[in-house]
Amino acid sequence: MRTVYLDNNATTQVAPEVIDAMLPFLRDLWGNPSSMHAFGGQVKQSVERARAQVAALLQADPSEIVFTSCGTESDNMAIRGSIEASAPGTCLVTSRVEHPAVMGPCHRLRDLGHPLVEIAVDSGGRLNMEELEAALQRGPSLVSLMWANNETGVVFPIDTIAGMVKGKGGILHTDAVQYAGKFPIDLRQVPVDLLSISGHKLHAPKGIGALYIRRGTKLQPFMIGGHQENSRRGGTENVPSIVGFGKACEMAMNAMSDEATRVAALRDRLERELLKTCPDTQVNGDPAHRLPNTTNISFQYVEGEAILYHLSDLGVAASSGSACTSGSLEPSHVIRAMGVPFTAAHGSIRFSLSRYNTDADVDHVLTHLPGIIRKLRTLSPFVT
Ligand code: PLP
Repeated sequence: MRTVYLDNNATTQVAPEVIDAMLPFLRDLWGNPSSMHAFGGQVKQSVERARAQVAALLQADPSEIVFTSCGTESDNMAIRGSIEASAPGTCLVTSRVEHPAVMGPCHRLRDLGHPLVEIAVDSGGRLNMEELEAALQRGPSLVSLMWANNETGVVFPIDTIAGMVKGKGGILHTDAVQYAGKFPIDLRQVPVDLLSISGHKLHAPKGIGALYIRRGTKLQPFMIGGHQENSRRGGTENVPSIVGFGKACEMAMNAMSDEATRVAALRDRLERELLKTCPDTQVNGDPAHRLPNTTNISFQYVEGEAILYHLSDLGVAASSGSACTSGSLEPSHVIRAMGVPFTAAHGSIRFSLSRYNTDADVDHVLTHLPGIIRKLRTLSPFVT
């Protein structure tokens, strides 16, 4: 059966070039980069080369990059490590649409007594900037706001936000797990203090991430152990994955603008044709400020899960904005925070594309999905 993978915000295919770069480090070059002998030294050099490749994607200095095990670890390290190093009473400021990797540590810190403000978004998923301004008046703050939303692709104006936060002397962390590799990032121009990225969202393997720590930023280590990563993150480095991550960042950097244009054209055709052929359908999220690869579409009066099952039978992988909690399908916190009406929230589907998608993939979905929606609507209790 033909496979059409349109779930790239969940994870991406590892690029063949990345696999080729990694293989020598699984087969022959298996030394420990911390070892004093030449066998380890050779490996250490490759880790440092990868660090420079990751730094180049962010226009950062290699010394500001710490390798972690994933985006979730980077987010936890940034938020918990920064609060531990901050003055007591520092206010945590975040949004209502963050990934659980940010919401989880923020809620945990709130439960431990730290003040927490969660900024609202409007119906387009745009951050309420007045609420942010008001939150920054409260005193010292650690602000954690995502650069791009994983469910809708909506991009927050992190450059403007960075100016506001730094103007008040706050610390800014951004979760750039979905943004990195899709739009250029220049940390020489944008005064972010901490930034999280993850390998498996940009065609490197799972189990590797990085945290950018601007020079001079105070941060308590999160993984306490050996002196790896300049004593900022204990644990023997995942060398093959680090090398693969570096290669993937280099490839993203070289191909970004051409890829973004091509992928956005595929996404736009998919979206346009679905809106045309399926009545009672809407796009969730501000179309003017979105990742080039993502569209979140609500098909009213149908369950997203039912659509996914039918698509899956045709070899199509996408995801829904509902999560099955205690047997009932609840729309995600992102869709709820945007105030999407009940009948649309339940039928929201995220399609997220990558450099490996083709026109034929889009044609496959366009051939089958309108019929699936028509069929499901004949069974829907919401349609009379
Ligand atoms: N942040 C965002 C915005 C994400 O989309 C994800 C993963 O979906 C994460 C963090 C967590 O990354 P990882 O899967 O590498 O832990």
